[in-house]
Amino acid sequence: MLFSVIRQARRYKLSTVMCGLAFCTFFFILAACLTIGYVSQKQSVEQQTLQLNEIHAKELSRITQSLIYSMQSSLAETSRYIMLEPTNEPSAIQKQLDYFRKSNSYFNAVLTMNEKGEVQYSSPEQVYNPETLPVNDQMEKALLKRRAYISTPYSDPNGRLVIMMGHPLYTADGRYMGMLAGVLYLEESNRLNELLDEGSKKEDGSYFYVVDNKSNIIYHPIESRIGKRLVGNYIMEELQDGRSGYQRTLNVNQQEVLAGYATVPGIRWGIVFQTPAENTEIFSAQLVENMLFYLVPIIVLLLMIIYHLAVQLSHPLNSLADYARSIGGEDGDGIPPLHAGWNYEAHELHQAIMVLEQQTREKERRLQKEAHYDALTGVLNRRALVSIMQNWVGNRYHFTVMMLDIDHFKSINDTYGHSMGDDMLKCMADVIAEQIQSQDLCFRYGGEEFVILLYEMDEDQGREVGEQIREAAEQCPTPFDRAITVSLGMTVYAGGDENLEELLEQADQALYNAKNTGRNKMVVYEHPTAISASD
Ligand code: GH3
Ligand code: MG
Ligand code: MG
Repeated sequence: MLFSVIRQARRYKLSTVMCGLAFCTFFFILAACLTIGYVSQKQSVEQQTLQLNEIHAKELSRITQSLIYSMQSSLAETSRYIMLEPTNEPSAIQKQLDYFRKSNSYFNAVLTMNEKGEVQYSSPEQVYNPETLPVNDQMEKALLKRRAYISTPYSDPNGRLVIMMGHPLYTADGRYMGMLAGVLYLEESNRLNELLDEGSKKEDGSYFYVVDNKSNIIYHPIESRIGKRLVGNYIMEELQDGRSGYQRTLNVNQQEVLAGYATVPGIRWGIVFQTPAENTEIFSAQLVENMLFYLVPIIVLLLMIIYHLAVQLSHPLNSLADYARSIGGEDGDGIPPLHAGWNYEAHELHQAIMVLEQQTREKERRLQKEAHYDALTGVLNRRALVSIMQNWVGNRYHFTVMMLDIDHFKSINDTYGHSMGDDMLKCMADVIAEQIQSQDLCFRYGGEEFVILLYEMDEDQGREVGEQIREAAEQCPTPFDRAITVSLGMTVYAGGDENLEELLEQADQALYNAKNTGRNKMVVYEHPTAISASD
């Protein structure tokens, strides 16, 4: 089961696995870096924007306060001048009002009213008539309390959204005469909204609006919002309590905004300076872009280095695998790979394969020896004889084939035991080896029979060697009281058409003759043609 699973499992190259792992690692690290960078940058930019917006709101509140004070003090100053004019000089009062309105452009209209709130003079002339100007609550309170006041926004008889600022009129002897009032048309140009317009030009989409002490919008870059009242708003509550600060909140379009707010001291107006939250995300996106710009080339470079290393790691392993395959291959030995260098595992594998190769070669040599040598006597065996004779006959070498058989060997076994017989066989192999030359070969043909191939020897030379072997065997010392003798049969191959079986048969026949004619002798095979020739 396990093996079948292993067999089915897909295999991947080391370089693919390493590069894949490295890529995944870098990808997740990059993703984590970008996310952390984006989130922290967003938080930091938002916090900075909130604080900056509060600073802007405070700055605007200071400017607004200073303008309102200027407007109020100019109203106070003008009211003093008006009261210096004799009351029977209406044109002089009208002139004063016209001069006051045109000289500073604080107000769109200025007017005087008596203690009942009835309009007496106005600039521009006839802009308000006593019967059309209703006395609203605040005006009434101001007339009653005889003090300076600023109204909430309201629609005047001409349908304009206005704010009125008033200052009491007193005669030199302290008699209360009514109010001098300046009117601001909120939807038309005047000093206040000109000043505020200058501060509202921001490139990052930030804007601000101004509310009065009742949360009515008295300035807004979108004119349609002017005059609307903001209720249920945390920032409005804060402003009404006279506090400043910042807050992430939703605007009327349910868009998230980063708002800083501040009150205008004295008149309790509020300034709210806000930036759409999504506009600050540009900075976070820029950071991500910058990080990508610097990190991606580094990551690509690292991946290339890792790929190079992976190839360096896998190359010796592949070479070793090829070499290991070639060790047992039929096409001969491969070239041993170079040392793996710094690659520890490849180095260990290299060493192990080298040891394995050495052991395999030794085993191969041993098996080859076992396949071609006789285990008892150490001389070549019958298989080697066949192979070598085929080769010699195939090449038509000239040689002599000699077959040797120990005489009455069975009786040695029977008399002195099988082990003594083995010793005699080994002794016989040594005797033969001593009598032949290096180019000659000795084989154990089977039992107590040996075959000797005498390279490039003719009949006379063969006869001489055979005789030497026979004599040496006879003189070979034995552990028992009689000498051993051998019989030999010999044939000569002179490059003729005989095959190895025929040659062995000829030698065997000669041996047979030697046995039958008294043993302890050598007989040369006589070719039938030679016999007929001698006839
Ligand atoms: P001859 O002179 O006719 O050759 O008589 P012989 O006794 O030598 O021949 P025979 O074929 O009758 O006997 C051969 C004997 O050799 C029989 C067998 O027990 C013995 N023999 C064969 N192989 C071995 C071996 O490896 N070791 C020993 N000790 N004896 C062997
Ligand atoms: Mg025999
Ligand atoms: Mg024998």
